[in-house]
Amino acid sequence: MPLSRNALIAGAVLLVLAATIGLFLLLPRNARPGASSGKLSVAATFLPVADIVRNIGGADVDIVTLLPPGASPHTFQPTPLQVQQLQDVKTIFAIGHGIDDWSLTLAQNKPDIEVVTLDKNIQLRHAADGSVDPHYWLDAANGKIMAQNVAAELSKLNPSHAADFNRRFQTYASELDALDTQIRILFQGKTQNQIVAHHDAWEYFAAAYGLKVDGVLEPVPGRDLTPRELAALENTIKQDNIKTVFSEPELSSQLLLPLAKDTGVNIVNLDPEGGSNGIASYRDILFKNAQTIANNLE
Ligand SMILES: [Zn+2]
Repeated sequence: MPLSRNALIAGAVLLVLAATIGLFLLLPRNARPGASSGKLSVAATFLPVADIVRNIGGADVDIVTLLPPGASPHTFQPTPLQVQQLQDVKTIFAIGHGIDDWSLTLAQNKPDIEVVTLDKNIQLRHAADGSVDPHYWLDAANGKIMAQNVAAELSKLNPSHAADFNRRFQTYASELDALDTQIRILFQGKTQNQIVAHHDAWEYFAAAYGLKVDGVLEPVPGRDLTPRELAALENTIKQDNIKTVFSEPELSSQLLLPLAKDTGVNIVNLDPEGGSNGIASYRDILFKNAQTIANNLE
């Protein structure tokens, strides 16, 4: 049976990764950049994870963010650059549940690396197909639990700084509590609570802040609606008097413009994963997206 194109590409990526790791192992340890800083070197798969780790690790931790700006974690394929970035790293912090499972591929190639997901003690939601919805960071209460998980893991990796990690966690937890209140204030007095989004990222956010996801253009990342599903979504939009469809700068869909034409909705960009203009921290992800959503609800 012939190998699929995807299998061939995956094989080629693995070969390049393996070759790159081999070259790095040949370098003397002190020739590798960052090896002598004396800090804990960790990696994070993408921005919200990296920023939470930064808030807890402070000056005691060097953090590599693996996902390049503008890329989607859902569809990212690691390159030799990510392997190179991991040379002194023993821990990759990740979300898990499919969104950044490419971190597991990276770890497979370097046996001393552990991937730590931040979902412990988080009440995970399930998508319609039964899979776990990985967008759990889009709720400030979950952000606090993630931060606590980071503090626990960093304390394990560097027990002599456990008090610092826990002190930073306490500070950050109160900041996230305040943020949670600010977001609730944004939605006070809104008569409309239904949103339609391009990518199915907002269920945790909606559940936390009293909204309802009325429909999405991509129930599964990279798969558009069938014509019948699109017709149903257009009906929902008209019935529920939806004025805005929330998309994202890096997403494209053949359906977005026809949908806007058929229903008269505006297309407004959100950024649940961070990194686009002005969304540079975990708190920005929550607050600025909340502001954009609130500004477009009646
Ligand atoms: Zn997503």
